[in-house]
Amino acid sequence: MSATDAVTDALGELHRRFAGVREGRPADYIPRLAQADPDAFGLALVSMDGHRYSTGDADVAFSLQSVSKPFVYALALSLLGLDEVGRWVNAEPSGEAFNAISLEPRTGRPANAMVNAGAIVTTALIPGIPGASAFDRILGCLGRFAGRDLDVDEEVYASEATSGDRNRALAYLIRSAGPLPFDPVAAVETYFRQCAVRATAVDLATMAATLAHGGVNPVTGEAVVTPAVAAQVLAVMATCGMYNSSGDWLLRVGLPAKSGVSGGLIAAGPARFGLAAYSPPLDSTGTSVRGHAALVELSLRFGLHLMNNPALPGSTVTLATTADDLPTAPAGRRERALRERVGVVAAQGALDFTAAERVLFALDDSGPERTGSVVLDLREVTGIDSVALAMLHAGLARLASDGRRAAVVDPDGRLGPPGLTRERTGQDLPRFASREEAVERCAHALAEDD
Ligand code: GLN
Repeated sequence: MSATDAVTDALGELHRRFAGVREGRPADYIPRLAQADPDAFGLALVSMDGHRYSTGDADVAFSLQSVSKPFVYALALSLLGLDEVGRWVNAEPSGEAFNAISLEPRTGRPANAMVNAGAIVTTALIPGIPGASAFDRILGCLGRFAGRDLDVDEEVYASEATSGDRNRALAYLIRSAGPLPFDPVAAVETYFRQCAVRATAVDLATMAATLAHGGVNPVTGEAVVTPAVAAQVLAVMATCGMYNSSGDWLLRVGLPAKSGVSGGLIAAGPARFGLAAYSPPLDSTGTSVRGHAALVELSLRFGLHLMNNPALPGSTVTLATTADDLPTAPAGRRERALRERVGVVAAQGALDFTAAERVLFALDDSGPERTGSVVLDLREVTGIDSVALAMLHAGLARLASDGRRAAVVDPDGRLGPPGLTRERTGQDLPRFASREEAVERCAHALAEDD
């Protein structure tokens, strides 16, 4: 991407604004991480169309650390399903630090898959298969999320392997506390390797964008996980991804996110974008200080908070009237009287549950007489999801049972094949290429009824 587009400019401005922040220190409990360049700072954004934007050190590779956790959780959910994974790892925010001994009192189950205890169990759940060890499968999966083959930073791996006693202790504790039959030594080795997988901020933004895009990598087009798994992972990231600052993060930034102690930070805007920051100095919760600052600002500036979705009135239904009010209506009294009994509703854009409710409300409201007809104009509709389609079919069936006839202006066949719509709506639902033709036909039919 050129440096002159609006998104790169915005990232660049945030980079300039926060590059001088001096708070925080790189993690040092894994000795190799303490050698990271404290000035390194990169930001990246990947859109749902696979457009990549970045600024600063966005092509510098660093170890994923805990940013790997949601993606391995995604793999476990894909292989075993939520019920089975949920037997061994809960999905409750722990309110505790990432390395806390956070095991449920009765079951010994870790609080969630984002804290180390839960991530070690998640990793232990990945079965090896002939020709591919558990780690091979994890590495392959991380690569599909990133859209390229990734590798392991062997120095970081070795450094954590020599210093990771707390995680080893956790693994043994998990085995002693709960019923999960697993090998703590192997699980922790695999977990350390997964944490040492190397990627750039652009890779991370692509990984986050894949989750935001219903599990389909927007750059490669590969379906990495199902939409259901992507949604499950985002939910756990939203409630648990930032450990003991998850609540505050959801309050202020409002995006599912995951931090890692090497200074990586991802956030996902469902159906909108994947974001990543890299900057090694960390705050007391193990979150990149500059990454945190940049994402807070970005969310505020672009209104990205998930809970902040101002309804746009009138953005679905562009017309709800009767046909006598159309500019094309002829002057004759008799024609106008017939046209008064033809409701006209036009919709635009992508129709989901919320939009379908608006269309159905307008349809119900559109006919001054219950015996009238209604024309539904879908020419400006760009898509109808399965929920909205079922609602529209049911709404049209209800019109039919009320004795109101419907006609649709649907040259693109968005309501589905005629046989299907007849079955679902209980009416023939004639289709027209123009609104005027549909109105004429409805008016004519009413005249015949009279
Ligand atoms: N490998 C690190 C650990 O287990 C990951 C922790 C993190 O990034 N928060 O301690």
